[in-house]
Amino acid sequence: MKLIEKYSIGTGDRFGRQGAAQIAAFRKAREQGIVAAIVWNKSSREHMFIGSSPADQREAADRAICAARWNGPYHVDADHIGLATVERFAPFCDYFTLDVADFIGAKPDTEAVDEFMKLHGGLLSEQGAPARLDREAMQAAASRYLAAANQAGKIYRRIVELRGADDFITEVSMDETDRPQSPPELAVILAALADQGVPVQTIAPKFSGRFNKGVDYLGDLGLFMSEFEEDIRVVKWAPAALGLPSSLKLSIHSGSDKFSLYGGIGSIIRKHDAGIHLKTAGTTWLEEIVGLAESGGDGLVMAKAVYRAAFEQIDQVTAPYLTVVSIDRQHLPAPEEVERWEGGQFVAALRHDPSNPGFNPDMRQLVHVAFPVAAKMGSRYLDALAANEPSVSRNVTANLWKRHIAPLLLV
Ligand SMILES: [Zn+2]
Repeated sequence: MKLIEKYSIGTGDRFGRQGAAQIAAFRKAREQGIVAAIVWNKSSREHMFIGSSPADQREAADRAICAARWNGPYHVDADHIGLATVERFAPFCDYFTLDVADFIGAKPDTEAVDEFMKLHGGLLSEQGAPARLDREAMQAAASRYLAAANQAGKIYRRIVELRGADDFITEVSMDETDRPQSPPELAVILAALADQGVPVQTIAPKFSGRFNKGVDYLGDLGLFMSEFEEDIRVVKWAPAALGLPSSLKLSIHSGSDKFSLYGGIGSIIRKHDAGIHLKTAGTTWLEEIVGLAESGGDGLVMAKAVYRAAFEQIDQVTAPYLTVVSIDRQHLPAPEEVERWEGGQFVAALRHDPSNPGFNPDMRQLVHVAFPVAAKMGSRYLDALAANEPSVSRNVTANLWKRHIAPLLLV
Protein backbone atom coordinates (compact mmCIF):
# COMPACT_ATOMS: atom_id res chain seq x y z
CA MET A 1 0.00 0.00 0.00
CA LYS A 2 1.20 3.49 -0.82
CA LEU A 3 0.50 5.95 1.99
CA ILE A 4 -1.43 9.14 1.33
CA GLU A 5 -0.08 12.33 2.91
CA LYS A 6 -2.08 13.99 5.67
CA TYR A 7 -3.18 16.84 3.43
CA SER A 8 -3.85 16.46 -0.27
CA ILE A 9 -5.58 18.55 -2.90
CA GLY A 10 -7.16 17.14 -6.04
CA THR A 11 -6.27 19.64 -8.70
CA GLY A 12 -7.28 18.01 -11.94
CA ASP A 13 -6.16 19.64 -15.15
CA ARG A 14 -8.69 19.19 -17.92
CA PHE A 15 -6.36 19.95 -20.84
CA GLY A 16 -3.07 18.97 -19.16
CA ARG A 17 -1.56 22.44 -19.57
CA GLN A 18 -1.65 23.92 -16.05
CA GLY A 19 0.65 21.58 -14.12
CA ALA A 20 3.36 24.21 -13.64
CA ALA A 21 0.89 26.88 -12.52
CA GLN A 22 -0.68 24.43 -10.06
CA ILE A 23 2.70 23.39 -8.67
CA ALA A 24 3.43 27.11 -8.14
CA ALA A 25 0.45 27.22 -5.75
CA PHE A 26 1.89 24.31 -3.74
CA ARG A 27 5.23 26.11 -3.69
CA LYS A 28 3.55 29.12 -2.12
CA ALA A 29 1.94 26.77 0.40
CA ARG A 30 5.31 25.24 1.25
CA GLU A 31 6.79 28.71 1.78
CA GLN A 32 4.15 29.07 4.50
CA GLY A 33 5.00 25.70 6.03
CA ILE A 34 2.09 23.77 4.52
CA VAL A 35 2.90 20.35 3.08
CA ALA A 36 0.13 19.11 0.80
CA ALA A 37 0.25 16.50 -1.93
CA ILE A 38 -0.91 17.38 -5.44
CA VAL A 39 -3.34 14.83 -6.83
CA TRP A 40 -4.09 15.16 -10.53
CA ASN A 41 -7.53 13.60 -10.75
CA LYS A 42 -9.49 12.96 -13.92
CA SER A 43 -12.52 10.76 -14.47
CA SER A 44 -13.27 8.49 -17.38
CA ARG A 45 -16.04 10.91 -18.41
CA GLU A 46 -13.62 13.85 -18.47
CA HIS A 47 -11.13 11.89 -20.54
CA MET A 48 -13.91 11.00 -22.95
CA PHE A 49 -15.12 14.60 -23.36
CA ILE A 50 -11.61 15.88 -23.91
CA GLY A 51 -10.28 13.01 -25.96
CA SER A 52 -7.36 12.39 -23.58
CA SER A 53 -6.20 9.17 -21.95
CA PRO A 54 -4.82 8.20 -18.54
CA ALA A 55 -1.40 7.88 -20.23
CA ASP A 56 -1.61 11.56 -21.30
CA GLN A 57 -2.57 12.52 -17.77
CA ARG A 58 0.42 10.69 -16.29
CA GLU A 59 2.73 12.23 -18.85
CA ALA A 60 1.45 15.78 -18.22
CA ALA A 61 1.92 15.27 -14.46
CA ASP A 62 5.45 13.86 -14.73
CA ARG A 63 6.46 16.51 -17.25
CA ALA A 64 5.18 19.35 -15.03
CA ILE A 65 6.92 17.91 -11.94
CA CYS A 66 10.17 17.53 -13.83
CA ALA A 67 10.07 20.98 -15.45
CA ALA A 68 9.28 22.65 -12.13
CA ARG A 69 11.96 20.59 -10.31
CA TRP A 70 9.32 19.95 -7.67
CA ASN A 71 10.25 17.44 -5.01
CA GLY A 72 6.96 17.50 -3.10
CA PRO A 73 4.53 14.58 -3.10
CA TYR A 74 2.17 14.07 -6.06
CA HIS A 75 -0.21 11.44 -7.35
CA VAL A 76 -2.31 10.67 -10.40
CA ASP A 77 -5.90 9.74 -9.56
CA ALA A 78 -8.17 7.45 -11.59
CA ASP A 79 -11.21 9.40 -10.50
CA HIS A 80 -14.64 7.78 -10.16
CA ILE A 81 -13.67 4.50 -11.75
CA GLY A 82 -15.60 1.24 -11.66
CA LEU A 83 -15.06 -2.30 -12.90
CA ALA A 84 -15.93 -1.25 -16.47
CA THR A 85 -13.44 1.62 -16.65
CA VAL A 86 -10.52 0.69 -14.39
CA GLU A 87 -8.40 -1.22 -16.86
CA ARG A 88 -7.30 1.77 -18.97
CA PHE A 89 -6.20 3.63 -15.83
CA ALA A 90 -4.43 0.87 -13.99
CA PRO A 91 -0.88 1.23 -15.37
CA PHE A 92 -0.79 5.03 -15.16
CA CYS A 93 -2.29 5.89 -11.79
CA ASP A 94 -1.20 5.44 -8.19
CA TYR A 95 -4.45 6.70 -6.68
CA PHE A 96 -7.81 5.12 -7.43
CA THR A 97 -11.21 6.55 -6.52
CA LEU A 98 -13.59 3.61 -6.43
CA ASP A 99 -17.05 4.95 -7.20
CA VAL A 100 -19.67 2.63 -5.76
CA ALA A 101 -22.55 5.09 -5.44
CA ASP A 102 -24.63 3.18 -7.99
CA PHE A 103 -24.63 0.17 -5.67
CA ILE A 104 -26.08 2.00 -2.68
CA GLY A 105 -29.44 0.47 -1.86
CA ALA A 106 -28.81 -2.61 -4.00
CA LYS A 107 -29.96 -5.69 -2.11
CA PRO A 108 -27.18 -7.64 -0.41
CA ASP A 109 -27.88 -11.29 0.40
CA THR A 110 -29.50 -11.81 3.78
CA GLU A 111 -26.60 -13.90 5.01
CA ALA A 112 -24.23 -10.99 4.38
CA VAL A 113 -26.33 -8.72 6.59
CA ASP A 114 -26.59 -11.41 9.30
CA GLU A 115 -22.86 -11.96 9.14
CA PHE A 116 -22.22 -8.21 9.40
CA MET A 117 -24.53 -7.90 12.40
CA LYS A 118 -22.82 -10.83 14.12
CA LEU A 119 -19.44 -9.16 13.65
CA HIS A 120 -20.31 -5.51 14.19
CA GLY A 121 -23.80 -5.38 15.73
CA GLY A 122 -22.62 -4.00 19.02
CA LEU A 123 -19.91 -1.76 17.64
CA LEU A 124 -21.73 1.53 17.77
CA SER A 125 -23.25 1.01 21.18
CA GLU A 126 -19.84 0.38 22.74
CA GLN A 127 -18.16 2.81 25.10
CA GLY A 128 -16.10 5.28 23.10
CA ALA A 129 -17.93 4.69 19.82
CA PRO A 130 -17.92 7.93 17.82
CA ALA A 131 -21.56 7.67 16.74
CA ARG A 132 -24.67 5.88 18.02
CA LEU A 133 -26.95 3.47 16.23
CA ASP A 134 -29.27 0.92 17.78
CA ARG A 135 -29.29 -2.61 16.36
CA GLU A 136 -32.28 -2.05 14.14
CA ALA A 137 -30.91 1.12 12.58
CA MET A 138 -27.57 -0.58 12.13
CA GLN A 139 -29.20 -3.46 10.31
CA ALA A 140 -30.99 -0.97 8.03
CA ALA A 141 -27.69 0.81 7.29
CA ALA A 142 -25.97 -2.51 6.57
CA SER A 143 -28.76 -3.52 4.18
CA ARG A 144 -28.35 -0.20 2.40
CA TYR A 145 -24.56 -0.12 2.06
CA LEU A 146 -23.24 -3.69 2.04
CA ALA A 147 -23.60 -4.17 -1.72
CA ALA A 148 -21.65 -0.94 -2.33
CA ALA A 149 -18.84 -2.08 -0.02
CA ASN A 150 -18.85 -5.46 -1.71
CA GLN A 151 -18.43 -3.73 -5.09
CA ALA A 152 -15.52 -1.67 -3.72
CA GLY A 153 -13.87 -4.98 -2.77
CA LYS A 154 -14.25 -6.26 -6.32
CA ILE A 155 -12.78 -3.12 -7.88
CA TYR A 156 -9.93 -3.03 -5.36
CA ARG A 157 -8.97 -6.64 -6.06
CA ARG A 158 -9.19 -5.99 -9.80
CA ILE A 159 -6.67 -3.12 -9.49
CA VAL A 160 -4.29 -5.31 -7.49
CA GLU A 161 -4.61 -7.93 -10.20
CA LEU A 162 -4.02 -5.43 -13.03
CA ARG A 163 -1.03 -3.80 -11.33
CA GLY A 164 0.30 -6.99 -9.86
CA ALA A 165 0.72 -5.31 -6.49
CA ASP A 166 -1.01 -3.28 -3.82
CA ASP A 167 1.17 -0.21 -4.48
CA PHE A 168 -1.47 2.50 -4.68
CA ILE A 169 -3.82 4.71 -2.67
CA THR A 170 -7.45 3.68 -2.39
CA GLU A 171 -10.30 6.15 -2.10
CA VAL A 172 -13.94 5.07 -1.96
CA SER A 173 -16.57 7.55 -3.14
CA MET A 174 -20.29 7.54 -2.45
CA ASP A 175 -20.98 11.21 -3.11
CA GLU A 176 -22.86 10.96 -6.40
CA THR A 177 -26.15 9.86 -4.92
CA ASP A 178 -29.34 11.54 -3.71
CA ARG A 179 -29.30 10.93 0.02
CA PRO A 180 -26.46 12.07 2.30
CA GLN A 181 -24.81 9.52 4.58
CA SER A 182 -24.98 10.22 8.29
CA PRO A 183 -21.89 9.81 10.52
CA PRO A 184 -23.13 6.47 11.97
CA GLU A 185 -23.79 5.25 8.43
CA LEU A 186 -20.23 6.24 7.57
CA ALA A 187 -19.06 3.99 10.44
CA VAL A 188 -21.11 1.10 9.05
CA ILE A 189 -19.66 1.68 5.55
CA LEU A 190 -16.10 1.68 6.91
CA ALA A 191 -16.74 -1.53 8.83
CA ALA A 192 -18.08 -3.15 5.67
CA LEU A 193 -15.05 -1.96 3.65
CA ALA A 194 -12.73 -3.37 6.32
CA ASP A 195 -14.56 -6.72 6.05
CA GLN A 196 -13.93 -6.63 2.30
CA GLY A 197 -10.21 -6.07 2.89
CA VAL A 198 -10.26 -2.67 1.17
CA PRO A 199 -7.42 -0.57 2.64
CA VAL A 200 -9.38 2.63 2.23
CA GLN A 201 -7.35 5.77 2.98
CA THR A 202 -9.80 8.42 1.89
CA ILE A 203 -13.57 8.19 1.88
CA ALA A 204 -15.91 10.60 0.13
CA PRO A 205 -19.37 10.53 1.62
CA LYS A 206 -22.23 12.66 0.40
CA PHE A 207 -22.59 15.48 2.90
CA SER A 208 -25.76 17.41 3.70
CA GLY A 209 -26.44 20.50 1.60
CA ARG A 210 -25.60 21.25 -2.00
CA PHE A 211 -22.11 21.05 -3.50
CA ASN A 212 -22.73 22.71 -6.84
CA LYS A 213 -19.90 22.93 -9.34
CA GLY A 214 -17.79 26.07 -9.14
CA VAL A 215 -19.88 27.99 -6.62
CA ASP A 216 -20.17 28.21 -2.84
CA TYR A 217 -21.87 25.68 -0.56
CA LEU A 218 -25.64 25.92 -0.25
CA GLY A 219 -27.15 24.63 2.97
CA ASP A 220 -27.22 24.92 6.73
CA LEU A 221 -23.63 25.78 7.73
CA GLY A 222 -24.09 24.89 11.40
CA LEU A 223 -25.56 21.51 10.53
CA PHE A 224 -22.79 20.82 8.03
CA MET A 225 -20.07 21.61 10.56
CA SER A 226 -21.55 19.43 13.30
CA GLU A 227 -21.98 16.53 10.87
CA PHE A 228 -18.50 17.06 9.49
CA GLU A 229 -17.02 16.94 12.98
CA GLU A 230 -18.94 13.71 13.70
CA ASP A 231 -17.59 12.26 10.46
CA ILE A 232 -14.07 13.24 11.53
CA ARG A 233 -14.58 11.43 14.85
CA VAL A 234 -15.64 8.34 12.89
CA VAL A 235 -12.58 8.34 10.60
CA LYS A 236 -10.26 8.95 13.56
CA TRP A 237 -11.82 6.00 15.41
CA ALA A 238 -11.99 3.55 12.49
CA PRO A 239 -8.29 2.60 12.05
CA ALA A 240 -7.87 1.10 15.53
CA ALA A 241 -11.42 -0.21 15.82
CA LEU A 242 -11.63 -1.79 12.37
CA GLY A 243 -8.02 -2.35 11.34
CA LEU A 244 -8.06 0.23 8.53
CA PRO A 245 -4.97 2.29 7.52
CA SER A 246 -4.05 4.93 10.08
CA SER A 247 -3.90 7.48 7.24
CA LEU A 248 -7.68 7.24 6.75
CA LYS A 249 -9.27 10.64 6.13
CA LEU A 250 -12.30 12.32 4.59
CA SER A 251 -12.40 13.41 0.96
CA ILE A 252 -14.56 16.30 -0.20
CA HIS A 253 -15.75 16.07 -3.78
CA SER A 254 -16.93 19.07 -5.80
CA GLY A 255 -14.81 20.78 -3.16
CA SER A 256 -13.67 23.81 -5.13
CA ASP A 257 -15.12 27.23 -4.41
CA LYS A 258 -16.75 26.25 -1.11
CA PHE A 259 -15.46 29.42 0.51
CA SER A 260 -17.93 29.43 3.39
CA LEU A 261 -16.73 25.95 4.48
CA TYR A 262 -12.93 26.12 4.40
CA GLY A 263 -12.37 28.05 7.63
CA GLY A 264 -14.65 25.76 9.66
CA ILE A 265 -13.29 22.57 8.09
CA GLY A 266 -9.74 23.77 8.70
CA SER A 267 -10.31 24.35 12.41
CA ILE A 268 -12.11 21.03 12.88
CA ILE A 269 -9.36 18.98 11.25
CA ARG A 270 -6.68 20.78 13.25
CA LYS A 271 -8.64 20.30 16.47
CA HIS A 272 -8.78 16.53 15.85
CA ASP A 273 -5.36 16.30 14.20
CA ALA A 274 -7.07 14.82 11.15
CA GLY A 275 -6.09 14.91 7.48
CA ILE A 276 -8.22 15.96 4.53
CA HIS A 277 -8.45 15.48 0.78
CA LEU A 278 -10.13 18.26 -1.17
CA LYS A 279 -11.04 17.74 -4.82
CA THR A 280 -11.03 21.04 -6.69
CA ALA A 281 -10.49 19.85 -10.25
CA GLY A 282 -12.88 21.95 -12.35
CA THR A 283 -11.93 25.29 -10.88
CA THR A 284 -8.62 25.32 -12.79
CA TRP A 285 -10.34 25.11 -16.18
CA LEU A 286 -12.44 28.17 -15.23
CA GLU A 287 -9.25 30.06 -14.44
CA GLU A 288 -8.06 29.31 -17.97
CA ILE A 289 -11.08 31.20 -19.27
CA VAL A 290 -10.62 34.02 -16.73
CA GLY A 291 -6.96 34.30 -17.74
CA LEU A 292 -7.80 34.36 -21.44
CA ALA A 293 -10.38 37.10 -20.89
CA GLU A 294 -8.03 39.10 -18.69
CA SER A 295 -5.31 39.15 -21.33
CA GLY A 296 -7.69 40.91 -23.76
CA GLY A 297 -7.19 40.73 -27.53
CA ASP A 298 -7.32 37.22 -29.01
CA GLY A 299 -7.57 35.70 -25.55
CA LEU A 300 -10.76 37.63 -24.85
CA VAL A 301 -12.12 36.64 -28.28
CA MET A 302 -11.52 32.97 -27.36
CA ALA A 303 -13.19 33.35 -23.93
CA LYS A 304 -16.24 34.86 -25.63
CA ALA A 305 -16.32 32.08 -28.24
CA VAL A 306 -16.31 29.47 -25.46
CA TYR A 307 -19.17 31.25 -23.72
CA ARG A 308 -21.19 31.53 -26.92
CA ALA A 309 -20.78 27.81 -27.65
CA ALA A 310 -21.66 26.93 -24.04
CA PHE A 311 -24.76 29.12 -24.22
CA GLU A 312 -25.89 27.62 -27.51
CA GLN A 313 -25.27 24.04 -26.31
CA ILE A 314 -26.51 24.51 -22.77
CA ASP A 315 -28.68 21.38 -22.78
CA GLN A 316 -25.86 19.11 -23.94
CA VAL A 317 -23.17 20.53 -21.66
CA THR A 318 -25.32 20.53 -18.52
CA ALA A 319 -26.95 17.13 -19.10
CA PRO A 320 -24.25 15.03 -17.35
CA TYR A 321 -24.16 17.43 -14.39
CA LEU A 322 -27.82 18.07 -13.58
CA THR A 323 -27.45 17.02 -9.94
CA VAL A 324 -24.48 19.34 -9.35
CA VAL A 325 -25.41 22.59 -11.07
CA SER A 326 -28.42 24.86 -10.68
CA ILE A 327 -28.38 27.48 -13.40
CA ASP A 328 -31.06 30.13 -13.67
CA ARG A 329 -31.17 30.67 -17.43
CA GLN A 330 -32.87 34.04 -16.98
CA HIS A 331 -29.63 35.28 -15.44
CA LEU A 332 -27.36 34.24 -18.31
CA PRO A 333 -26.24 37.15 -20.49
CA ALA A 334 -26.92 36.70 -24.21
CA PRO A 335 -23.75 36.01 -26.25
CA GLU A 336 -24.47 39.17 -28.29
CA GLU A 337 -24.30 41.19 -25.09
CA VAL A 338 -21.10 39.44 -23.94
CA GLU A 339 -19.62 40.21 -27.36
CA ARG A 340 -19.65 43.91 -26.41
CA TRP A 341 -17.95 43.36 -23.03
CA GLU A 342 -14.46 44.56 -22.20
CA GLY A 343 -12.12 41.99 -20.66
CA GLY A 344 -12.67 43.43 -17.19
CA GLN A 345 -16.41 42.89 -17.36
CA PHE A 346 -16.00 39.29 -18.52
CA VAL A 347 -13.51 38.59 -15.72
CA ALA A 348 -15.81 40.18 -13.13
CA ALA A 349 -18.72 37.98 -14.23
CA LEU A 350 -16.72 34.75 -14.19
CA ARG A 351 -14.16 35.06 -11.38
CA HIS A 352 -15.45 33.70 -8.07
CA ASP A 353 -15.49 36.93 -6.10
CA PRO A 354 -18.93 37.17 -4.47
CA SER A 355 -18.16 40.71 -3.29
CA ASN A 356 -17.90 41.91 -6.91
CA PRO A 357 -21.31 43.22 -8.09
CA GLY A 358 -20.49 41.99 -11.60
CA PHE A 359 -20.10 38.36 -10.46
CA ASN A 360 -22.57 36.01 -12.16
CA PRO A 361 -22.79 32.57 -10.51
CA ASP A 362 -25.13 31.24 -13.21
CA MET A 363 -22.68 32.10 -15.96
CA ARG A 364 -19.88 30.61 -13.86
CA GLN A 365 -21.66 27.29 -13.41
CA LEU A 366 -22.43 27.08 -17.12
CA VAL A 367 -18.82 27.69 -18.11
CA HIS A 368 -17.67 25.22 -15.42
CA VAL A 369 -19.36 22.31 -17.19
CA ALA A 370 -18.68 23.62 -20.70
CA PHE A 371 -15.10 22.34 -21.10
CA PRO A 372 -16.23 19.91 -23.85
CA VAL A 373 -16.89 22.89 -26.13
CA ALA A 374 -13.27 24.01 -25.72
CA ALA A 375 -12.15 20.42 -26.35
CA LYS A 376 -14.03 20.49 -29.65
CA MET A 377 -12.08 23.61 -30.69
CA GLY A 378 -8.94 21.49 -30.43
CA SER A 379 -5.65 23.23 -31.19
CA ARG A 380 -7.38 26.61 -31.58
CA TYR A 381 -8.12 26.51 -27.85
CA LEU A 382 -4.75 25.08 -26.82
CA ASP A 383 -2.90 27.67 -28.93
CA ALA A 384 -4.84 30.45 -27.21
CA LEU A 385 -3.76 29.03 -23.82
CA ALA A 386 -0.14 29.00 -24.95
CA ALA A 387 -0.29 32.52 -26.39
CA ASN A 388 -1.76 33.92 -23.15
CA GLU A 389 0.21 31.75 -20.76
CA PRO A 390 1.32 34.43 -18.26
CA SER A 391 -2.21 35.62 -17.58
CA VAL A 392 -3.65 32.09 -17.45
CA SER A 393 -0.91 30.81 -15.10
CA ARG A 394 -1.24 33.80 -12.80
CA ASN A 395 -4.96 33.15 -12.38
CA VAL A 396 -4.59 29.37 -11.95
CA THR A 397 -1.94 29.78 -9.24
CA ALA A 398 -3.70 32.59 -7.37
CA ASN A 399 -7.03 30.76 -7.37
CA LEU A 400 -5.59 27.53 -6.02
CA TRP A 401 -3.43 29.14 -3.40
CA LYS A 402 -5.36 32.21 -2.23
CA ARG A 403 -8.90 30.97 -2.57
CA HIS A 404 -8.45 27.27 -1.73
CA ILE A 405 -5.27 26.03 -0.03
CA ALA A 406 -4.65 29.05 2.20
CA PRO A 407 -8.20 29.41 3.59
CA LEU A 408 -8.28 25.67 4.33
CA LEU A 409 -4.79 24.97 5.63
CA LEU A 410 -3.07 28.22 6.58
CA VAL A 411 -3.36 28.85 10.30
ZN1 LIG B 1 -16.99 12.99 -6.91
